[in-house]
Amino acid sequence: MTILPCPVSLPLMRLALMERVQYIAVHCSATRPTANIGAADIDTMHRARKFACIGYHYVIRRSGAVEKGRPERNAGAHVEGYNSKALGICLVGGIDCQGKAQNNFTPAQLDALRQLLAELKTRYPQAIVQGHRDFPNVAKDCPCFDVRAWLQTP
Ligand SMILES: [Zn+2]
Repeated sequence: MTILPCPVSLPLMRLALMERVQYIAVHCSATRPTANIGAADIDTMHRARKFACIGYHYVIRRSGAVEKGRPERNAGAHVEGYNSKALGICLVGGIDCQGKAQNNFTPAQLDALRQLLAELKTRYPQAIVQGHRDFPNVAKDCPCFDVRAWLQTP
């Protein structure tokens, strides 16, 4: 797995520091499978929502390419109440052409996610890996599949 550098420059001085990585949260971009977007596009979308910059630490494109977002030493902006204790990974996709939640990630994306999680777990062995929707009080489908059940499958 190759991890590509963050494609945009980030206002690092404005970002809070990560306290301790207790969770690794998996998200989706809630875009259609035909939307070939990546970290630069998500950075633009998040800045439009008044975030300092991209809120995730990693983005996995439809091709399976992994792009860096925020550095791991910085808090993210992806799960309310958990941003200083959770790394955020975003899979591009997750809705169908009607705009409904759909597990439509490519095999290359799921392969890359498994490899990225394995690598992160070597550095954060205590971290709990789960989907955005598995955090308390989250009324979203994100990332549109059961991450913990998927992790149990070979
Ligand atoms: Zn999410």
